[in-house]
Amino acid sequence: MMMALFLVGAFVWSLLEYTLHRWVFHERILGRRASHEHLEHHAKVNWFPPWSSKLKAAAVVLGGVGLVTVPLGGAVVGLSLVGGIVAGWLTYEALHRAIHVAGPRSAYGHWARRHHLHHHFADPRKNHGVSTPLWDVVFGTFVSVEIVRVPARQAAKLPWLLHDGHIAAGLEGTYQLPDFVVADSPSLARTA
Ligand SMILES: [Zn+2]
Ligand SMILES: [Zn+2]
Repeated sequence: MMMALFLVGAFVWSLLEYTLHRWVFHERILGRRASHEHLEHHAKVNWFPPWSSKLKAAAVVLGGVGLVTVPLGGAVVGLSLVGGIVAGWLTYEALHRAIHVAGPRSAYGHWARRHHLHHHFADPRKNHGVSTPLWDVVFGTFVSVEIVRVPARQAAKLPWLLHDGHIAAGLEGTYQLPDFVVADSPSLARTA
């Protein structure tokens, strides 16, 4: 029972991940203040909101879920659900950071980078899910990505993407840079 509720909580997180990213951060249903840190992350893909902001958001969301589920279902039900959401949230945080700071090591890692970096560099109205495409498919924002075109000023902020100023071995078929900047850019080469 507890394990089933924990899994339900992790599933609920996947919808929260989509909801926060699409409607709160990009469509700004809670106003500009709630979205400015995410837009900063879009402007600088190696910048992440501080943990203090994440903990505040977590306190609001998890407190809200707990306040509804504990009185309705009891402490075991409520805390199992909250535990599943926390596990999903932490997994998402680790995955999102890894997408930006480390290269892919599995088919899923390759997919997650193509999917999320398309959201960053091609169309921020698509691919709001980071860990799963499920809710993008449900809400009609899913794009299947084969090629990611990376702006030169952002490529330098993805340390795993470049080697000697060019796309790293094994990633050339998936990622493209504007030719005119890559060959001569010392700032890009430095990150290799
Ligand atoms: Zn990102
Ligand atoms: Zn975004």
